[in-house]
Amino acid sequence: MSFQVEGKVAVVTGGSSGIGLAAVEILVAEGAKVAWCGRDEQRLAESKLYILEKYPHAHVFTQVCNVLDKEDVKNFAHTVKQHLGNVDMLINNAGQGRVSTFENTQDEDWMKEIELKYFSVLHPVRAFLDDLKNSAIGSVTNVNSLLALQPEPHMIATSSARAALLNLTHSLAHEFIKYNVRVNSILLGMVESAQWKRRFETRSDLNQSWEEWTANIARKRGIPMQRLGKPEEPARALVFLASPLASYTTGSTIDVSGGFNKHL
Ligand code: NDP
Repeated sequence: MSFQVEGKVAVVTGGSSGIGLAAVEILVAEGAKVAWCGRDEQRLAESKLYILEKYPHAHVFTQVCNVLDKEDVKNFAHTVKQHLGNVDMLINNAGQGRVSTFENTQDEDWMKEIELKYFSVLHPVRAFLDDLKNSAIGSVTNVNSLLALQPEPHMIATSSARAALLNLTHSLAHEFIKYNVRVNSILLGMVESAQWKRRFETRSDLNQSWEEWTANIARKRGIPMQRLGKPEEPARALVFLASPLASYTTGSTIDVSGGFNKHL
């Protein structure tokens, strides 16, 4: 069974690498028209080249856009509509985590984290909501983290802001039922991607390979599957929730954590 998104229009924020790019690729392979954004122009151009080399006939659009800049996002929404048409699926993926404990998280860091987790979703939702309301299959799908339910002391601000995003996602799901727009999220564990590659570059033992380093993290953290996830694993869950295959699902989450989820 396909995801039933052929000819539909999807937007992926932060689509230039990692999980976002993996979601872009699945959507393109399924025949959707896909727009994505990121802040770094070169990374964005490289991601577009990568997709077009593999799928030369794909209908795609990219634009540099910081999801924390309201005007930037409004402008992105406007040009996406001009290039690809009315948007059916919005995937809010742009962002990053903050590694810090209570002791070393300054007030400004708390504010930045709260701004990132709320407004990386609120700005795109506002900008694309009219399109989603006009769609027969409108959906918003947020990338969230298992930290929302299972906080970690070394990521105190991110954990707390993730819990707020889960709560917000639930509220939006209920508010948007009247528009026939579904809102769901995925809860990630640890997934191989640029964030982890950057941390790998600063590892203490430079002799450790990527495989050894990631397996070591999985072992130390007690991930039952004993490995980090691959970007395409959460991406498949994202595309499922965004697609008409999940037509009776809203206000829901899919856990993609390799069994790290300890709650019922
Ligand atoms: P990557 O760093 O590979 O990808 C992040 C993407 O978001 C990039 O395209 C980046 O491009 C873009 N981005 C970041 N900030 C902004 C912004 N303000 N405006 C627009 N684009 C932005 O990371 P992942 O694929 O791992 O992360 C994807 C999402 O999953 C993130 O929200 C992350 O917090 C979340 N997550 C990831 C986990 C993991 O283990 N990998 C665990 C839990 C959550 P650019 O920098 O050029 O803007």
